[in-house]
Amino acid sequence: MAYIRDRGFVLKHEALREHDTWISIYDERHGKLVGIARGHRRLTGKQIGHMEPLVLAEVMIAEGKQVDKIAVSRVVEPYHGIRKDLSKVVILSSCLSLVDMLTRPGVPDQRIFAHIEELFQLFSGLTDSPSKERAQLFYSWFALRLLSLSGNIASFTDCVICRRELTEPIYPIPKMGGGVCARCAKAEGLESHDTLPMTWKLLRLIQGASCEDIASVSAQKALFRQANAVISDMLEFVPADGEPHGFRTISGVLA
Ligand SMILES: [Zn+2]
Repeated sequence: MAYIRDRGFVLKHEALREHDTWISIYDERHGKLVGIARGHRRLTGKQIGHMEPLVLAEVMIAEGKQVDKIAVSRVVEPYHGIRKDLSKVVILSSCLSLVDMLTRPGVPDQRIFAHIEELFQLFSGLTDSPSKERAQLFYSWFALRLLSLSGNIASFTDCVICRRELTEPIYPIPKMGGGVCARCAKAEGLESHDTLPMTWKLLRLIQGASCEDIASVSAQKALFRQANAVISDMLEFVPADGEPHGFRTISGVLA
C-alpha cells in the first residue's frame, strides 16, 4: 500500500462511527487531505492529543480504494502555550475552519500552509491575550490573505467598478469584494453608508500587514469594528463549503 508522509494542521475532525473519525488536514506539501482516522477514539489519551486541531503533526496517509486512511505518527509542534488562552484558541479554530471551507483536496499550496503556520508561531510567542476586537482583526487579516491566495482579490484602493483610485466617500460593496467611488455608488443605487474614512485606511493596512503588525496596530475600537464588519460582509459572498462563522464565534465566545 502506498503511503504519504507529511506534516500538517488538523482543520476539522468529526466522530463518524463507533471508533472512527472523519478528519480534514492541511499538509505542507500535499495541501488539503480528508480521510478516516481508524480506531482513533480507542487510542490512549496521549495519542488523542496528537489529533487535536491546534497542533502541527506528522501524518501518514494510506490511499484507500474508497477513502484515504490517516494516522498521526507524532506531534511536531504542540503549541502548548496557545491552548491555555481562550482568545487564541477561538481565533485559530475559526481560521482553520475557514481554511477547511475555502480549500479542496488536490490543489496543494504551500503558501496556505505557511499562512497558517505564521499565525500559530506568532501566537505561541504572544504574551497578551487578544481582546475581542483584535481577535476579529486577526481573523480579518487571516481571511483576507486566504481569499487572495484562493483567487478572491479584495480591493480597497481602487473602485471595483470603474477601477479609478478610491477617494472619500467610499461605499462598501461586499458582493463585489471591495469599495466603490461615489459616482459608481450613485449609478448602482447604493444606499448611503456610515463607514469612517479611517476604516479604508485600516483595511488597506490589514491587507498588506504581517501577522505581527496586526498584534501591534492601534486604533479606536469603533474603527476595528467597522473594518471587521466590511470583511464579515464580504465573506458572506465568497463561494465556500459552509458558512464562514468566525466573526460570530469570536464575538460569542469572547463577549
Ligand atoms: Zn467607480
